[in-house]
Amino acid sequence: MDAKIVIVGCGISGISAAHQLIKSGFQNVRILESTSRSGGRIKTGRLGDKVVEIGANWIHGPSEGNPVFRLARQYGLLDPEALTPENQAIDCGGTPVWVPNFFSSSGRRLTLEEYMPAQEMFDKVLNESSEFASKGGEPTASVGDFLRSEIQKQAAEEWKDVDAKTRSLRLGMINNMLKQQCCINGTHSMDEVGLGAYGLYKTLPGLDCTFPRGYEVLIKNLMSELPSGIVSYNRPVRCVHWNNTERGEKPVMVECDDGEKFSADHVIVTVPLGYLKKHLSALFCPPLPLHKQHSIQRLGFGTNNKIYVEFDSPWWDDGCEVIVLVWDDEDEIVDQVPDLQRSWLKKLFGFTVLKPTERYGHVLCGWIAGHESEYMETLSEQEVTHCVTQLVRRFTGNPALTPRRVLRSQWFHNPWTCGSYSFPGKLCSAQDLENMMEPLPSKGSQAQPLQVLFAGEATHHCYYSTVHGAVLTGWREADRLISHYSSSSPSVPKSNL
Ligand SMILES: Cc1cc2nc3c(=O)[nH]c(=O)nc-3n(C[C@H](O)[C@H](O)[C@H](O)COP(=O)(O)OP(=O)(O)OC[C@H]3O[C@@H](n4cnc5c(N)ncnc54)[C@H](O)[C@@H]3O)c2cc1C
Repeated sequence: MDAKIVIVGCGISGISAAHQLIKSGFQNVRILESTSRSGGRIKTGRLGDKVVEIGANWIHGPSEGNPVFRLARQYGLLDPEALTPENQAIDCGGTPVWVPNFFSSSGRRLTLEEYMPAQEMFDKVLNESSEFASKGGEPTASVGDFLRSEIQKQAAEEWKDVDAKTRSLRLGMINNMLKQQCCINGTHSMDEVGLGAYGLYKTLPGLDCTFPRGYEVLIKNLMSELPSGIVSYNRPVRCVHWNNTERGEKPVMVECDDGEKFSADHVIVTVPLGYLKKHLSALFCPPLPLHKQHSIQRLGFGTNNKIYVEFDSPWWDDGCEVIVLVWDDEDEIVDQVPDLQRSWLKKLFGFTVLKPTERYGHVLCGWIAGHESEYMETLSEQEVTHCVTQLVRRFTGNPALTPRRVLRSQWFHNPWTCGSYSFPGKLCSAQDLENMMEPLPSKGSQAQPLQVLFAGEATHHCYYSTVHGAVLTGWREADRLISHYSSSSPSVPKSNL
């Protein structure tokens, strides 16, 4: 097939689209990537001699229905436990149950019994938040508003006989859970996540697993199967000119920052939603139709960062999988800190413990979302190390604790990402995700069809924000082109993925 196809972005969605097209006989495919590497938000780094993930961490729901699991299995990239039918069958609704250790800001260890009343109340209300996507009639605009008002109501009723100190501690626990949700959703505050669309996200069965040699090995395997030279690196795209009607010319012309131009029959745009929001007015000429622009604005894109901290020896229990930090001086239900400079680190909900210990030693991964996380990115590594050291000393009551190494991610200040991943914002609906994936020109136009197509995690109707979502969108847009050409030329086999 000699249709000329340009893919903008060499993250997993762009790579997946290229794979599918090449496999189906398209020979004229080129990927333009702004940076010097493939993988985008799949990025593996090193903390000393340990392999750590700067971007994507887990395969969420590693089971047969997950394309990332199937690819990882095919390339032999997973630990044997992840491949077992038992692991694939575990269905925890997207929230793996980790063995926790709880610490309070006054340096006291909290027990599971102390934590459970708050956890049970929070889980119940959070579950209810997911139900409005199918039912409609949501009482508030955001998940944050709904959680706050329901928890206040229920706490007044169910905890009326509880003493003031315990109540305040439980509110601190609720706030911790909200901060954790900010990380999961990649948002500054749950007040920004739309209640009506919250339940659109779907989970797959399978207990989340990691790549022992790093997520980027998946990218390396996929890239090794593409023709060499298919990617032009350090080639940021400045503008996609579409709807060109000049006779003898291709309908689309992709203009790069360095002035180089690529003409094409089709362009698949896979840039992150954060980048799209920031550069929307310059990136398309003519501009995108209004309904598409509005959906781009309504969908949310926020920051979630990691702070890896290595210790000489563990200060958590053997077997502990997550360390939860509860501030016991928070009297209101809040997930944002009032003073960024002084208290940004209050937003860090805790640490996951890297397992197995034989592979990672004593490495923790701290999670922090929102503007507090974006502020953290502006600090030097020394300043971050200092603040984290103070934090762990305070929560453990051990003034001698000193990290050996610290490494953090900086996704907000990455100019090609502008944050971490997408979430449904206030007033969002399933239609917005449909609009995101709609190719240009829109249906009904007389112009050449399928000039500009859209892939990337933010264009999946239920697996947005994930790697598997991104893969499926790449395949989806490749299949759209494959079907288009197979209906006009019977020689191209229809993809069966
Ligand atoms: C901290 C963090 C943790 C995460 N954890 C998980 C997890 O555990 N599990 C999971 O499933 N998902 C996770 N994700 C999400 C996952 O990484 C993404 O959903 C997925 O990698 C997105 O792939 P993509 O192809 O859509 O976008 P990207 O990987 O962002 O690829 C887009 C590419 O476009 C390039 N680009 C941007 N602008 C231009 C331009 N103008 N011209 C040319 N190229 C351009 C970028 O450089 C990039 O390479 C995480 C993400 C982050 C940041």
